[in-house]
Amino acid sequence: MNSVPPSLRSARRVVVKIGSALLVDADLAAPRAAWLAGIAEDIAELRGCGTEVIVVSSGAIALARRTLKLTQARLRLEEKQAAAAVGQIRLAQAWSEALQARGMVAAQLLLTIADSEDRRRYLNARATLETLLRLGCVPVINENDSVATAEIRFGDNDRLAARVAEMVQADQLILLSDIDGLYTADPKRNADASHIPVVAALTADIEAMGGDPPPGYSSGGMRTKLVAARIATGAGCAMAIALGHADRPLHALAAGARCTWFLAAPEGRSARKNWILNGLQQTGSLMVDAGAARALVKGGSLLPAGVRGLAGVFERGDAVAVLGPQGEAVARGLSAYASADAARIIGHRSGEIEAILGWRGRDEIIHRDDLVLLAGA
Ligand code: GLU
Repeated sequence: MNSVPPSLRSARRVVVKIGSALLVDADLAAPRAAWLAGIAEDIAELRGCGTEVIVVSSGAIALARRTLKLTQARLRLEEKQAAAAVGQIRLAQAWSEALQARGMVAAQLLLTIADSEDRRRYLNARATLETLLRLGCVPVINENDSVATAEIRFGDNDRLAARVAEMVQADQLILLSDIDGLYTADPKRNADASHIPVVAALTADIEAMGGDPPPGYSSGGMRTKLVAARIATGAGCAMAIALGHADRPLHALAAGARCTWFLAAPEGRSARKNWILNGLQQTGSLMVDAGAARALVKGGSLLPAGVRGLAGVFERGDAVAVLGPQGEAVARGLSAYASADAARIIGHRSGEIEAILGWRGRDEIIHRDDLVLLAGA
């Protein structure tokens, strides 16, 4: 089995989950402005490389505790719901300001579990997310705590983030946490605990490392992260648990900071490929030369240099046909570039993309993870 962890730098679409403890200064009950500025910088950097970013942010309840004098460790459900109604306004404002300072537009979505399970609502939420991404916004999602009753609550944003990653077919989910990954035991209590860099399969041994939820404000802990891993990897999305506390955590992760990667499950990968093949309307095509067609058959990505021409109008992330030199269908994949940009870079080396477009997009026009070879190719 392939156990090479993915790199954040190669993500096409990433969901980043941010917990309350990272975002909220517990003493001041205020957003950690400097940290938020750093993560906004990270998001701008990822988007500059052609990666779409969706944020799942906690913090609504934590931001309202002081104002509402609800500072006890455990809140009742109705207190949480009231706190979320107050804190969500501040949370959205903090995100809007931080992203705006880097020239980005924040878009708030509040979801309940029904939005991820009822098919009509699921499609609706997905369509809105797709449109927001297309318009260049950064969706910032939280659970709609104020209306979700106990039975229909996610209750933790780890699981919500995994459902969102599944919904938008993200290729990576990053859980920013107060720990740099999964350990064989709780490292705070056990000096022998060792860090696990890559989890290729969620075996019973791995599940047993979940432990108990932590005390205090945060609702997650390792157990909900492993539940999230099961949802995400089963949908063909790789997941990382990485340290979030220091400034610029995504930059650090992209530069190789220690974390745990959960690899996409092979059957999840095929579900994803099936979705690329059948679940999307094809909006255009790319004509490639013989060398590029051979490289694809060998498992490579499609680089702009190998593309001779294109047809149709498509956006970044749309499904396109890949046609060989004789016009034969070779593959289908998700284009990392809109047709207008693709038209300018085809035939050029990846190193020239930045000079041509004025921004550093991805090296590949279709990454191999987003490409499905057609039978007979
Ligand atoms: N939705 C909750 C909030 O915004 C947080 C849930 C969680 O921390 O996982 O406060």
